[in-house]
Amino acid sequence: MSRVYNFSAGPAVLPEEVLREAQSEILEYGNSGMSVMEMSHRSKDFEDILFTAEKDLRTLMNIPDNYRVLFLQGGGCTQFAMIPMNLMTHGNADYIVTGQWSKKAMQEARIFGNVNVIASSEDRNFAYVPDMSTVKVTPEADYVYICQNETVHGTTIRTLPETDGKPLVADVSSMFLSEPVDVSKYGVIWGGVQKNVGPAGVTIVIIRDDLIRDEVMPKTPTMLKYKTHSDNKSLYNTPPCWNIYICGLVFKWLLKLGGTEAIYKRNQEKAGLLYDYLDGSKIFHGTVDKKDRSLMNVPFVTGNKELDAEFVSEAEKAGLRNIKGHRSVGGMRASLYNAMPVEGVKALVAFMAEFERRHA
Ligand SMILES: *Cc1c(COP(=O)(O)O)cnc(C)c1O
Repeated sequence: MSRVYNFSAGPAVLPEEVLREAQSEILEYGNSGMSVMEMSHRSKDFEDILFTAEKDLRTLMNIPDNYRVLFLQGGGCTQFAMIPMNLMTHGNADYIVTGQWSKKAMQEARIFGNVNVIASSEDRNFAYVPDMSTVKVTPEADYVYICQNETVHGTTIRTLPETDGKPLVADVSSMFLSEPVDVSKYGVIWGGVQKNVGPAGVTIVIIRDDLIRDEVMPKTPTMLKYKTHSDNKSLYNTPPCWNIYICGLVFKWLLKLGGTEAIYKRNQEKAGLLYDYLDGSKIFHGTVDKKDRSLMNVPFVTGNKELDAEFVSEAEKAGLRNIKGHRSVGGMRASLYNAMPVEGVKALVAFMAEFERRHA
């Protein structure tokens, strides 16, 4: 076996410790005589797995009691529809568009009602975050939507917009549990787990309980109502049991490490290594304004397509995988999620420095 450093944006690297633990329990979970994959979702064993995962997540994120935690399916893209179907009660919403994912969410919301783009950074291919202090919320808006960390473009919203009491809805898929967060500032904070928490197939939605409504858009399917899942503790239908189990192991791993404060320090250290190198490099440069850079997704380019391609291909051979940038930005992208060890970033930076020497 030879595991590589995997810089994929998602599905992404998971903690090796967690994978080993899952391996050791794959044939028999506890004394159950069976794998988690074979269990009834109504069994005591699985209920324990689910409720412990929720409890640990509540501890990690310090989630207030008036918020529900839902483990849903359908990926991030299903939330793009569920949010307006459940929250657009008067047919209006404000969207802040800072990259590919908030743009997709905004376009989906337009199926359901009137959407105002109250700030956008598309003029410079989403290489920055617009000034949030000047953002004006529309009086009729039912909610204000952001994608707090844009996975493709590599930006993070550091100052939340002032929403005039309207619920702030945030997609944090690619920064989930990467740093401490004040959940009470959000109406809904949600993420697909395949970036930073677990295997694809689970979307975690943390929602303030007054936003879980009986009155949703007409003809909203039962499965797409937050209330269905809240009333049934995420067990309305068969949940992705194995994936939730792995998320639970990742939560335990994070708790053992010292929680979000500890991982935040580590994430700052890791991103710092790469950004410091990029800022001093003569051939590589980051594509995002310094103040808005993500700690999780780091896009960079040489400015020369052939050189980018050569770098990607040599990096792959050196065991630095999935470093090719998204087609809308080009160049390279290194995703430095929680489970990426510091050694992985050091190896990448050393490889870049050596590549730079050869191409100076
Ligand atoms: C990956 C991603 C999504 C989409 O997730 P799917 O599960 O593929 O639908 C949405 N938002 C962000 C920020 C993402 O990184």
